[in-house]
This record gives sequence, structure tokens and C-alpha cells, in this order.
Amino acid sequence: MRLLVVEDDDAIAEPLVDGLRREGFEVARVATGAAALEAEIPDVVLLDLGLPDLDGNEVCRRLRATSDVPIIVITARSEEIDRVIGLELGADDYVVKPFGFRELVARIRAVTRRTQRPGDGAAPGPTGAASAAAAVALAGGRVEVDTRTRKVRVDGAEVPLTRKEFDLLALLLSDPGATLTRDEILRTVWDEHWYGPTKTLDVHVASLRKKLGDPTLIETVRGVGFRVRTDA
Ligand code: CA
Repeated sequence: MRLLVVEDDDAIAEPLVDGLRREGFEVARVATGAAALEAEIPDVVLLDLGLPDLDGNEVCRRLRATSDVPIIVITARSEEIDRVIGLELGADDYVVKPFGFRELVARIRAVTRRTQRPGDGAAPGPTGAASAAAAVALAGGRVEVDTRTRKVRVDGAEVPLTRKEFDLLALLLSDPGATLTRDEILRTVWDEHWYGPTKTLDVHVASLRKKLGDPTLIETVRGVGFRVRTDA
């Protein structure tokens, strides 16, 4: 598996790259945003937000505009988390400095587990039912979700979703109309070791509602979780 480490600080990058190579990853490292955008697209990008040339946010946005490579943002700014994982940037996950090496490796493995076989669609875990029905129509056909190709169309136009947004939608669609608890969603779409803020889920639901063009499609069940509104 090829990783691209985008980090300007040698004191962080060098031991990180060494450690990742010892874990068996193939690692390329660049120290600027410009170099990151020119690099060959890897399997996973580890992106420091504090870069000397371009803002890391901008790098993330541009990478996301041209590729759906999983991006794990490394930030020293915990107040940025909502922006990082939200609609604006489209990162798949993040770690806050200082972070544990094992934690980072676990997150790399988690994002790649979720994304290794894009043809499989759907969220991981016991929710594979979503991949059985490849195409699902919502909102009287205005919204079409293809869980096999992981594409979503709204009024006929394709709407790009981040991996997490798609996994979240696919999970809700695996049992249309049923309420999924916040815990269940966080454990399945993030992973069983998710210790981050549960607000993450609300940020993703909000961006998904916005992208689907119909905020009522995903209903909040107060104090419990979320469900997708079906027209059946
Ligand atoms: Ca930096």
C-alpha cells in the first residue's frame, strides 16, 4: 500500500516515515502543498494542515476535487476538526497532534478497509444488504443512489459525496425507514475504535442533507439517531 506523507516538519516526518515503512507501507514524503498536488496519487494521503506554501485545507480541497483518494488530515488545531471532516474539505479522517503512532496506523488500516474494494459499495460490517440492491430511488426518484458504483444523482446530476458521507447514506439505506442509533452509526461508519467527538456525525449528516438537496430525507430521531425517509 502506497502512502503519501505531506509534512514540512522533518522532526515529525522522518520518524513517521521510518515507522510506517517498518509497518510495511510504501511511503513517499513531500514537504509542501505544491509537491503534494504534483505527486503520484497514492492509496492514502496523510496531510499536515500547517504547510509552508499552501494552506493544508486548500491542498485537501484540491486533492478531493480531482481524486477520491482517502485523506487523513493531521492537525495541531483541534478547533479545526469540524471544518476538516465537514463538507468543505472532504477528508476521511483526522488525527490531532500529538498523536500515537499505533492510532495513526489503525486509522490508515480503517480507511483502506472501507475503501479497498469500491465495487463492493455499502458500509462495512453486517450491513452488506445495501450492496444487494444496487440502485435506490428516494424523494420520488429525484435522488438516485447506486451502492454498487457509489454514485449519487440528484435531479439527474451526479453529486460527489465523500467516502464517509456515502458510507453513512449506504448504512441508513441498508434498512430504509429504520432508526439507527448514533452509536451504531459511529461504530459502523467510523470504526469500533472511534473515540472522537460524536458531533462528527452531525457534521456529516448536515453536509449530506445539503448535498441531497432535501434536508427532510434524513430524519433526526431526537435522542436516538437517524433514519432515511422512504416514499414507500
Ligand atoms: Ca507543519
